[in-house]
Amino acid sequence: MEERITGVMIYYYFVCSRKLWYFCHQINMEDENENVQLGKLLDENSYKRDDKHIEIDGIINIDFIHEKNELHEIKKSKSIEEAGIWQVKYYLYYLKKRNVDGLHGVIDYPLLKKNVDVELSDEDCKKLDDIIKEIISVKNQEYPPKLEEKKICKKCAYYDLCFI
Ligand code: SF4
Repeated sequence: MEERITGVMIYYYFVCSRKLWYFCHQINMEDENENVQLGKLLDENSYKRDDKHIEIDGIINIDFIHEKNELHEIKKSKSIEEAGIWQVKYYLYYLKKRNVDGLHGVIDYPLLKKNVDVELSDEDCKKLDDIIKEIISVKNQEYPPKLEEKKICKKCAYYDLCFI
């Protein structure tokens, strides 16, 4: 059976492997964190469009602008921009594997009034094949990966779990 890899897992892979492990093991503390709540608020209020919000297999959860063949992901800050870019690349990859091609992605930063275009190359597809293998390997570990303090730790929903 194909492993269920969600966009959030791809995002966390780039943010912190420990965070990824917690998430894969259904340890979810995000609701208690103000930052994430702000993210959710932004999601609900900042981009009210006529376009469709699509959810596929519980893996893709994104806005789709039909006219432009564009997938949109909303982020509140560019602090972990690379992670957001790969999350959107993964959505494009996931759809491509299911014969939905010719789309491109955009990350919207409403607070910064900016957006970033995301395209998927053949190289990216190969990299995503490897990333998925690595995510599965982290997921299958019995214990979380070794703790390494990062700049983002203080704002992380799992901070108490890692440091207290
Ligand atoms: S607190 Fe730091 S080490 Fe722990 S999960 Fe969050 S980012 Fe990773």
